[in-house]
Amino acid sequence: MARLQLKNLEKVYGGGFKAVHGINLDVEEGEFMVLVGPSGCAKSTTLRMIAGLEDVTSGEIRIGDRIVNALEPGKRGIAMVFQNYALYPHMKVRTNLAFGLRIGGASKAEAAVAVEEVAKILEIEPLLDRLPKQLSGGQAQRVALGRALIKKPEVFLFDEPLSNLDAKLRASMRVRITDLHKRLRAEGMPATVVYVTHDQTEAMTMGDRICVMKDGHIMQVATPKVLYDSPANLFVAGFIGSPEMNVIDGQVDGDSFRTAGQVIRLDEALTSRLTARPDAAALGIRPQHLKLADGTNGALHAHLKSVEFMGHEVYLHAQLDGQPITSVATAAEYDAMDRAADMIRLLPEPANIHIFDRASGANVSLRAQG
Ligand code: ADP
Ligand code: MG
Repeated sequence: MARLQLKNLEKVYGGGFKAVHGINLDVEEGEFMVLVGPSGCAKSTTLRMIAGLEDVTSGEIRIGDRIVNALEPGKRGIAMVFQNYALYPHMKVRTNLAFGLRIGGASKAEAAVAVEEVAKILEIEPLLDRLPKQLSGGQAQRVALGRALIKKPEVFLFDEPLSNLDAKLRASMRVRITDLHKRLRAEGMPATVVYVTHDQTEAMTMGDRICVMKDGHIMQVATPKVLYDSPANLFVAGFIGSPEMNVIDGQVDGDSFRTAGQVIRLDEALTSRLTARPDAAALGIRPQHLKLADGTNGALHAHLKSVEFMGHEVYLHAQLDGQPITSVATAAEYDAMDRAADMIRLLPEPANIHIFDRASGANVSLRAQG
């Protein structure tokens, strides 16, 4: 297994469209790195350049100590798993698994041993003599995973491999893939992974680190916890976390944040962290950190517009000075609430407030990263 490095990597497509704008990324040996971002942000373009399926316009791709820019895909020591698993339909699972090894020159006996080994790891032994059309979506995706695993590549590349599966299966495959990654690490065969998805839940639950992309630029690279607690900018703040972080426009004034009609007190820990006091600012607070309050000093007044009952919690959608905000209440808090009231009071937890520069989007209240 090897480290993967991207240096000033750029991609300009034939028509002159610049899809990737000089990105730099280090994926450590054995690390599970997720590339996440909305559709069109160049996740697949980046992955395909790593795989050698797309030419690099400029910059460098290193796998281990080799620059692989000019190497053909088969010589890069990578294996790729796609959304459409693309198994050979006329071959049994066993032959599908062995195919890559046989092409690479392995003997029939060597391939058979490798197939058994991989089938055991992925628990697909009972499926070995079936044809792809006799497999469920989840089973087919496990076979596709097996086809990558059997090559013992330096780097695994995944492009939205779970997007075609239903929600339940997606959740179980998520765990299966991360378990497999952990198991290989524990057995001394750590797998370096680059995993592409547009789904922030997949990114948060699977990544050792996450690289958030937008329009061919990297917005932040960090662990799931750091992305959640300390988003570097408004884009990351909005993309990571569910429901989305509330963003309220206003100004920082001394130790307060003023919206058109209300004042939010900022604690000293926050004001002392501020690296700027932008004229146009935005206060960010996650719905989980905006608590239903009653009569408490400093609570915000908001018009309740709609309620989503989720079972153990309730999403309260409201308007604050004409700006939409959401609060997550427990079912018990919601039960205790006066249902007839159309005004609610909401108290932002001071320690979880972020201040952003509206113009640049930068978080000007970042905590030091330990
Ligand atoms: P993602 O995988 O994040 O959805 P892609 O890497 O597929 O994004 O695409 C990134 C951008 O590059 C998009 O704007 C897309 O339209 C453009 N693009 C992708 N492939 C080509 C191509 N072959 N020629 C020109 N533009 C392309
Ligand atoms: Mg894509």
